[in-house]
Amino acid sequence: MEHDTIAAISTAVGEGGIAIIRISGPDAISSTDRIFKSSKRLSEADSHTIHYGHIINPESGESLDEVLVTLMRGPKSFTAEDVVEINTHGGVIAVKKVMDAVLQLNAVRVAEPGEFTKRAFINGRIDLMQAEAVIDLIRSKSDRAFSVAKKQAEGVLSRKIKALRQTVIELLAHIEVNIDYPEHDVEELTAAFIEEQCTKAIAEINKLLKTASEGKILREGIMTAIVGRPNVGKSSLLNVLAQENKAIVTDIPGTTRDVIEQIVTINGIPLRLLDTAGIRETSDIVEQIGVERSRDVLQEADLILYVLNYNEQLQPEDKLLLEGMKGRSVIVIVNKTDLEQKLDLTEVEAILDRSVIVQMSMLEEKGLEELENKISELFFEGQLESDDLTYISNVRHIALLKKARQSLQDAIEASQAGVPIDIIQIDGRMAWEALGEILGDEAGDSLIDQIFSQFCLGK
Ligand code: GDP
Repeated sequence: MEHDTIAAISTAVGEGGIAIIRISGPDAISSTDRIFKSSKRLSEADSHTIHYGHIINPESGESLDEVLVTLMRGPKSFTAEDVVEINTHGGVIAVKKVMDAVLQLNAVRVAEPGEFTKRAFINGRIDLMQAEAVIDLIRSKSDRAFSVAKKQAEGVLSRKIKALRQTVIELLAHIEVNIDYPEHDVEELTAAFIEEQCTKAIAEINKLLKTASEGKILREGIMTAIVGRPNVGKSSLLNVLAQENKAIVTDIPGTTRDVIEQIVTINGIPLRLLDTAGIRETSDIVEQIGVERSRDVLQEADLILYVLNYNEQLQPEDKLLLEGMKGRSVIVIVNKTDLEQKLDLTEVEAILDRSVIVQMSMLEEKGLEELENKISELFFEGQLESDDLTYISNVRHIALLKKARQSLQDAIEASQAGVPIDIIQIDGRMAWEALGEILGDEAGDSLIDQIFSQFCLGK
């Protein structure tokens, strides 16, 4: 099946200046030659060249579109196979006509989602971790997440995992020699050596896992809940942040009935803003549902933006909710500073640290920058500015790293307990396999299929 030649429209469906049809496989060049009229045949052309011409209907000879064709011979191509990319005019019709012509030849079939990247993996051009990064690249919602995914696609993280595996394989090699040639005069495997190698690997894993929460945040966004009693300015805040009117802003308390989600980027960090209905005991049934959901959302939130009014005294329910937020990532926004002060700030400071309080006026758009800075401080303590973009962000990788760490810990404990080395060897193997699974070395077919099916068509 891997020897088929595949094709797909690789650009997004819809109107656009150009669209690209990508063809990959052993028949990519010869097939294209049969439908491409140009001054030179592709099969005679040099690799990595671009050719102007027309795509014709192979049966009628009718010209379908004026195109540019890029030729990339394997293994120097995305899939490591021969690849032809046809740049057609954008718009649904032109692309479809050219795609039909490609398929009419019967030498080429439609690619499955992710199949081009899967081939790059199978042909050994990239590892599984890099392939997964390609999915992240396509899906990334912020510049920062994009840079992280790009680094990963380039193999920066893979190299770290490989170095880790090297440490484990050294350990396994020592154990192997001791088991297989006990009669030889090999250096005796000491418990100290086992423990040293394992500790070294565990320290590396811990370093990688430390980046995990930041990686997750960059990939998925910080789940941010905007909370406060009705009319304090929650929707206004959402709007100021999103700079567009998606939530309804009114003077009637409790109009934000449902949870609305938007993604905004603050200092390069994606925030998933959840605007919640005013948290307040109420007799309104619809609003009750909203309040219930608000509480659920609060539980899941990475960050809580609690909004108070400058021109209102702190209410008992505010106190109750703020008390419940101790130990969470919370920023208290004191809104409407353009109005007369009635709020006693010391009452808030008695509950939460004053450093989490930001004074704002949505109306005058004041305090926004301070809020944004506080958000990035809270999550990245300035580290976001650094260039180390080797974040572990994929849950699969995190789980496997933890599994490897556990096996290494087991090995240390076994060694300390004086367990025979062939038992310790099993732990070492398990660590080696878990790390290999991250790169795809030990991954089963079903896992690989599942990963690649997440791709969009044409990638
Ligand atoms: P929510 O119920 O918490 O979502 O509150 P809204 O965002 O709907 O705002 C309630 C009312 O307060 C609206 O009339 C807003 O225009 C007004 N408002 C919001 N922010 C400010 C502010 O900073 N100053 C003043 N004076 N009014 C504001």
